[in-house]
Amino acid sequence: MYFIVYRIARAASGTVKLLAADLFIQETSQIDFSCCYYTGSRIDCSCMNYGLDTFGRPLRFSVLVGTESAKLKGGDRIIGKWQPVPREWPASSVRTLSEEFLNCSTDAQSVLHFTAKYGPLSDPFRPARSFEFALADWKEEQRKKALWWDMFAQFVNLPKATIIAPAIIEAVPRDQFQIGRTGLTFQCANLLHFMSLEIAALPVERLRRCQREGCTQRFVAHDLREIYCSELCKTKERNRAKLRYWEAHKPEILAERKKERLRARRRKKNVTRKTR
Ligand SMILES: [Zn+2]
Repeated sequence: MYFIVYRIARAASGTVKLLAADLFIQETSQIDFSCCYYTGSRIDCSCMNYGLDTFGRPLRFSVLVGTESAKLKGGDRIIGKWQPVPREWPASSVRTLSEEFLNCSTDAQSVLHFTAKYGPLSDPFRPARSFEFALADWKEEQRKKALWWDMFAQFVNLPKATIIAPAIIEAVPRDQFQIGRTGLTFQCANLLHFMSLEIAALPVERLRRCQREGCTQRFVAHDLREIYCSELCKTKERNRAKLRYWEAHKPEILAERKKERLRARRRKKNVTRKTR
């Protein structure tokens, strides 16, 4: 059996570096992913300092997207057709694909909209070929990917000295490395695999869930002070905080306002007397 194991490292600056990509010809069950295949020791970046790693070439992930059509079939399935020519994702979007996917509602129309924009989750791009999947499967994949996000997000709560093993994500058929002059591109076979890598490669301290009560959106914090997913949630939470303060201090605030009105009236009276 042929398969590739690739290891990625996330630097403190947030950049992602490919440590190794090894082609193995062996039974998957015989591989111990917790130790280095070559030395038998615990996985350690230093033991992989050769080949690709020696030159520290930039690594990016991509996936092919784009549908020509997508529609509901029988209320519980979606059928569609890939475009003849794909688009490569990410393009210039600020929002990650994982955010788009995880924050997508699970009603049929929302799933259809997501599919029309990007494509099915697990089918590799095939020009002008048709695809079909069940809505229930799409929802299940979204649930699993949310758990994947939350697992990485929890790492931020661990003590700084905690050693976290590198995320090992096995390659799937039709994944491919593209080695160009400017760097390496790992083109994922499908959207799901791309998102697995995307989430694993993001700095854990930036993987957030909106802190506004009632909002469940996940988002990538571009500023580490961000705790809300959007300006709307930020404004709503600010208004709610004002309301809470008002309700907790209503008598004092009203009394203070009354005093202020009386003071203003007295000042006005004094000014009128002096001008006479
Ligand atoms: Zn929110």
